[in-house]
Amino acid sequence: MKFESRVVHRGDRKRRPGTPVPSTTPIHLSTTYFYDSAATLDRVLGDEQEGFSYARYASPTNAALEELAADLEGGVGALATTSGMVAAQVAFRAALLDRPHSVVASHSIYGATVSLLDDVLGSFGVKVKYVDVCDLAAVEKAVEENRAGCIFIESISNPLLRVAHIDEIARIARAAGASLIVDNTFATPMLMRPLDLGANIVIHSATKYLAGHGDVLGGLAIGDETHAPEIRRLSRIVGPVLGPFESYLTMRGIKTLALRFEKQCRNARCVAEWLRSHPNVDRVYYCSEPDHPDRDAIERMFAPGLFGAILSFEIKNAHKENVLAFMDRLRMVVPGTSLGDVHSLLLYPLIASHRNVSPKMRERMGIRENLVRVAAGIEAPEDIIADLDQALRGV
Ligand SMILES: *Cc1c(COP(=O)(O)O)cnc(C)c1O
Repeated sequence: MKFESRVVHRGDRKRRPGTPVPSTTPIHLSTTYFYDSAATLDRVLGDEQEGFSYARYASPTNAALEELAADLEGGVGALATTSGMVAAQVAFRAALLDRPHSVVASHSIYGATVSLLDDVLGSFGVKVKYVDVCDLAAVEKAVEENRAGCIFIESISNPLLRVAHIDEIARIARAAGASLIVDNTFATPMLMRPLDLGANIVIHSATKYLAGHGDVLGGLAIGDETHAPEIRRLSRIVGPVLGPFESYLTMRGIKTLALRFEKQCRNARCVAEWLRSHPNVDRVYYCSEPDHPDRDAIERMFAPGLFGAILSFEIKNAHKENVLAFMDRLRMVVPGTSLGDVHSLLLYPLIASHRNVSPKMRERMGIRENLVRVAAGIEAPEDIIADLDQALRGV
């Protein structure tokens, strides 16, 4: 089945002889399950027979979402978690279980992931080295020098939209006995599937494109045949599981992912192309730019014709107060911190994602005071453009 069919069918509508089949998986709130014979419960608790026993182990609404997510990412199993950060935490623990406690991570990753690595895992003795993952020689050197047990990257970086050669990094990881975790939140499985390219675990902030409507906080960790069982085993102990209501909402969201994301990608491209010739705009960052530094990786790995739904641009001569005033002038585009919703969102890295990065470091990363990021929604592109245009006029 094609992607747009799988999003609406996988995980739902399990047939069992003689029982009515709900056409969508209901919200199962029960924490505890029993059977008509205690011997069955014994086998279920002993993992000798499939079934539900206690909601921290597995439950039907979550199981439906997890089956869908594993299918979309091409994994063996998935875990739905209470947030994207919890998915990251479970992924690192599973990846480092029997490997050296040393991580090589991309130097341009989500801020909270940096804090997770430095402050939380660091306090348990995990060493972290940050590298430019678009420089394969640097990755190889860092993995060797730090005896890395795990490599961590994002499929598209924020906010400058760099794209690393995931398959090449997977090769480096395999050769070193390290596992590769990819945060695929920005790309979604519609744009690329890191497990197919050799990654071992994919994580998502389901809060973003997968749930897609700005009303769920959730995460997913999807593993290959060695890591999926470890993720499940850890989860049964630690209990980071998403609530059934949020699982339901996430699954409902995913059913329209193909429609939403295609439209969002088209809108982003439209807006990026329009911005390129705007008199008040210095520079546009988008994955379809002919002079994109990672053009080769994008052409090889992205689904044909899609370039993601996020773009960034620099506002000519704008300082912080000008950018804040520009945000205040927006009438439709929401000046908020998230992405992936049906409504367009505008983020100012200086006050949000890169707030805790020093000005010097920001400058070195190429994130200037006049840079803003747009996550295109599903509105009419003319309306997004008209709103940005009227807000840019006052700069
Ligand atoms: C939002 C986000 C996260 C964190 O997800 P939460 O659901 O907010 O915990 C991690 N990685 C990326 C790329 C994100 O955008």
